[in-house]
Amino acid sequence: MIDQYGRTISYLRLSVTELCNLRCRYCMPEDGICKKDHSEMLTEDEMICAVKAAAFLGIHKLRITGGEPLVKKNILSICERAAAVPGIEDVCITTNGTLLPGLAEGLKAAGVKRINISLDTLDEEKYRYITRRGHFDEALAGIEAAVAAGFDKIKINAVLIGGFNDDEIPRMAELTVKYPVDVRFIELMPMYDSGEFGPSAYVPGQKVLDILPQLSETPQDGGVARLYHLPGAQGNIGLINPLSRHFCGSCNRIRITADGQIKPCLHREAEYSIKGMDEEQMIAQIKKAVAAKPEWHGDLSSEHRSHAGRNMNQIGG
Ligand code: SAM
Ligand code: SF4
Repeated sequence: MIDQYGRTISYLRLSVTELCNLRCRYCMPEDGICKKDHSEMLTEDEMICAVKAAAFLGIHKLRITGGEPLVKKNILSICERAAAVPGIEDVCITTNGTLLPGLAEGLKAAGVKRINISLDTLDEEKYRYITRRGHFDEALAGIEAAVAAGFDKIKINAVLIGGFNDDEIPRMAELTVKYPVDVRFIELMPMYDSGEFGPSAYVPGQKVLDILPQLSETPQDGGVARLYHLPGAQGNIGLINPLSRHFCGSCNRIRITADGQIKPCLHREAEYSIKGMDEEQMIAQIKKAVAAKPEWHGDLSSEHRSHAGRNMNQIGG
């Protein structure tokens, strides 16, 4: 599929649940979310139907996300069935990692090739603070389980938050020396009502380069992160700068939320429902959504909040 701005759309991010076992302060409110009625959410069969419809239209990369996808009881079945859809070449997952010790091997066997694990701090107390309930040891055990399971690629995602973890940039970057992983620093995006952090929490990705002058540029992989390398490291450092250097011009993705809304753009309100539809109807909706992809996500800065109309756990990142 090629949209009206000449961008090839080949990547689907499918959120399988809004629920999460953590409550990260930048992502969702403390009291969780108003749990929607089961009947409003996509069933497993509808998710697989949506993947088939997307693959028919030329999507070949699929990322499973959430909420926390690993709290979904049928996550292995979803991954396995999605990986078997003709045309889907690459199934990856984004997780907070805490449930990986019990699931990493199963995910690998189900056909998940690459895994992104979110981790914003290496300090137990700060981890508890930012996630409002998590245990750092469980996240670390998750990373180790992923390394042991032998995924093709493991990326650690850290959201940069001024006054919270910007002092940990060197330690976080060192994870690329200790483990065969990439570490990616993501600029904080001001979402709908996860507004706990004011403008001072925004840290531009450039700060990582200022703090780590020993980083060298490395060949780029065509993804949204600009890649660098620490001397002696096993993996790369990535900078994802949606605010200071947005990548809308090369956007190749659409998103489907757990309640069955296609979002042509992460930071826009427009949504196209596929709930209750058959594959043919879903194909038509995906085409409509791609035709409606805006040129860019609109003003997004520490002063201009996202127009997504949802928090990140209800979109999938
Ligand atoms: N629960 C999984 C996890 O945490 O990896 C998957 C869903 S989570 C919504 C996906 C990604 O979005 C995570 O890497 C998270 O750090 C990121 N994220 C959530 N809210 C964000 C925000 N306001 N700004 C930047 N990234 C955000
Ligand atoms: Fe849950 Fe992921 Fe959001 Fe944290 S970032 S609250 S782990 S969905």
